[in-house]
Amino acid sequence: MLHVSRKKEFCNVLGPGVRSVIWFHGCLRQCPGCIAGTMNEITEYETFIPEQLADWVKNNVGIEGLTLSGGEPFQQPLDELAIFLMLVKQNTDLSVLCYTGYCYEELNKQESAIPVLQNIDVLIDGEYRQNEDFGQRWRGSANQQFHFLTKRYKNQENEWNHTFERQIEIELDMNGKLLISGVPSKNFINKLTMELQRRDVNADFS
Ligand code: SF4
Repeated sequence: MLHVSRKKEFCNVLGPGVRSVIWFHGCLRQCPGCIAGTMNEITEYETFIPEQLADWVKNNVGIEGLTLSGGEPFQQPLDELAIFLMLVKQNTDLSVLCYTGYCYEELNKQESAIPVLQNIDVLIDGEYRQNEDFGQRWRGSANQQFHFLTKRYKNQENEWNHTFERQIEIELDMNGKLLISGVPSKNFINKLTMELQRRDVNADFS
């Protein structure tokens, strides 16, 4: 089963165009300043078989693609992750972007990761490093690289690598939890938390 912390049908800030986003649950790394920190700690998650997730994606009419984030997608059962992405690619013309804390080179040596990589258009790899957070679009830190694994966005490589622009989307869910999507500016979460505490507002993040 695939463990999902959160999913969002329509998101404008995690890759090109309007995209559905899946945040997988859990990551064994503890990168200081990781914005997924709260998501990695919470114990609640939903489980899905690959077919269920693929149907969910297919029903999100009008999107340009799918973005996988986390948590760590490559710490999910890789056979099931591969089936999920294979179904998405077989049944739609959506692009697939995937964030991972692993390096592309190490994933590419893992036999079980290959079928997953074969269904990803762009892999954004590497752990988050606070001291290399220079504000690049769609990347948390400069060590994270875009790997264009297919031709889908290859002609935009230069633009993607040299755009400095951060956008986020903030929503309040039914339980009063603030849901943040996108790559925020450095220390944004800390500043927001302090400001809310100063105003005596309780807020959880995800
Ligand atoms: S690898 Fe990514 S998700 Fe995992 S702790 Fe580091 S930044 Fe967070």
